[in-house]
Amino acid sequence: MAHVVSIVIDADLRDRTVNRASVLYRIGCLPGATLLGMDNDRDRWGLIYEYDPAVDSEESFTEHRLLGLARTAIGDPDLDLAIAGVRFWKSTALVADRFRVGRSFLVGDAAHVTTPIGGLGMNCGIGDVDNLSWKVAAVVAGWADESLLDTYEAERQPVAELTVQASLGAARPPAQTDGLVLGASYESSAVVPDGSQPPAALDPLGTYLPTGRPGHRAPHLWLDDARVVSTLDLFGDGFVLLTTPAGTAWHTVVQRESHIPIRVHVIDHPEWPDLYGVGPLGAVLVRPDGYVGFRAVGVPTDSNDLGAALARLAGRT
Ligand SMILES: Cc1cc2nc3c(=O)[nH]c(=O)nc-3n(C[C@H](O)[C@H](O)[C@H](O)COP(=O)(O)OP(=O)(O)OC[C@H]3O[C@@H](n4cnc5c(N)ncnc54)[C@H](O)[C@@H]3O)c2cc1C
Repeated sequence: MAHVVSIVIDADLRDRTVNRASVLYRIGCLPGATLLGMDNDRDRWGLIYEYDPAVDSEESFTEHRLLGLARTAIGDPDLDLAIAGVRFWKSTALVADRFRVGRSFLVGDAAHVTTPIGGLGMNCGIGDVDNLSWKVAAVVAGWADESLLDTYEAERQPVAELTVQASLGAARPPAQTDGLVLGASYESSAVVPDGSQPPAALDPLGTYLPTGRPGHRAPHLWLDDARVVSTLDLFGDGFVLLTTPAGTAWHTVVQRESHIPIRVHVIDHPEWPDLYGVGPLGAVLVRPDGYVGFRAVGVPTDSNDLGAALARLAGRT
């Protein structure tokens, strides 16, 4: 477990960084140190410095020493700067045993703590809230059973485990964690499996393979030539049933399910059926958090019962 001190520095480094713009600078002359750009004006910086508690106590980081560390890291012993804040912390990787106890839910760093490696903690926390908020809203509104809230832990704890493990590995640039951040999938009673297998990436952490399989994030597809409107813009305030223009049989089924907020959106795009894994008469039900809850390859049948799927997604079976 690394012990770290974060030092917030006010110093105008515009001239020094204009030709080597970056957010993070590893400091070769000060082992264990990284300089982090904290605002766009490049005059507030964070110096993140790993220290050995067997050698250095927190008290040993006096203002005089902090100024010296900052000037060494920046490479100018006479630099005009000010220390705006200091925080000691330990690099930890933990996942809580429970994410829900009764009416209390843990989200974000309260539920899981990653090391800063890979910059994964915030995304995971936002994913928690995205997952939980529609479920709480549905229960409060009365169209979902309280048991739906148990799917929060079932869905997010495995993602937290993967994220925490990833933060213990080698650092990767953000684009090389798309498999984890965008590709993580859910298995719970708030997903209706369709018997298909998940896509198999050679590098599951790094590679995101878009799929409309239930439990996965509904894939992005531009819906207009100007590339302004995405499928992702359709989701967020209720269930959305996606069909092709030929999928009218599904629209009739939806009219019977008026007790649950659900909109139908017809997608007239040649790539959509393949991307979402349905035929020309199929349908995909997307949850309010943008995850696929149910998929039918063809027309409605007894084994593809949208009403039963919605009941399951609302925790009513
Ligand atoms: C050095 C470092 C670099 C990081 N870099 C990245 C990165 O690049 N990308 C990324 O995704 N993540 C990064 N993270 C992780 C990210 O910062 C956290 O995952 C994220 O901030 C967690 O958000 P949170 O809202 O769950 O918790 P916090 O941000 O910790 O927010 C909790 C808030 O609750 C307040 N609070 C605590 N107790 C009480 C109380 N009793 N009453 C009222 N308020 C209270 C706290 O003051 C705090 O404001 C980094 C973390 C560190 C330490």
